[in-house]
Amino acid sequence: LCSRRDEVSLAEEASRMYGSPAPTIFSKVIDKSLPADIIYEDEKCLAFRDITPQAPVHFLVIPKVQIPRISAARDGDAELLGHLLLVAKNEAKKEGLSEGYRVVINDGPHGAQSVYHLHIHVLGGRQMTWPPG
Ligand code: C5P
Repeated sequence: LCSRRDEVSLAEEASRMYGSPAPTIFSKVIDKSLPADIIYEDEKCLAFRDITPQAPVHFLVIPKVQIPRISAARDGDAELLGHLLLVAKNEAKKEGLSEGYRVVINDGPHGAQSVYHLHIHVLGGRQMTWPPG
């Protein structure tokens, strides 16, 4: 689904829209050079299980284009961002999270973001607490 030509055009798009963000480990998940437990993929995004799950179900939804963080998103990303949220809720349903779940986007240092490729966390299968810490 993600050919070399797609990768180049994704990199060009990221460069044009968001500067030239340094590739992250998620670039390797997208180009399949790093194995990941991918639960959903389409032309715009991927969902895969978090390698260090913080709940019985914990997966990430990422755009293929490298928007580095939610605070770097543009008005023109509205459709893509909406798509990511719909994929998140569809996969949550497939994972059987009928009692609800937590959706999280960490941004920047205060948000404790560690990978600078936008990702939506979906956590479920246990009671969450608030505030999240
Ligand atoms: O929001 P934050 O940037 O802190 O989250 C990054 C997430 O990516 C972490 O939950 C980490 O476990 C996950 N990760 C992963 N696979 C990798 C590297 C990081 O699922 N290869």
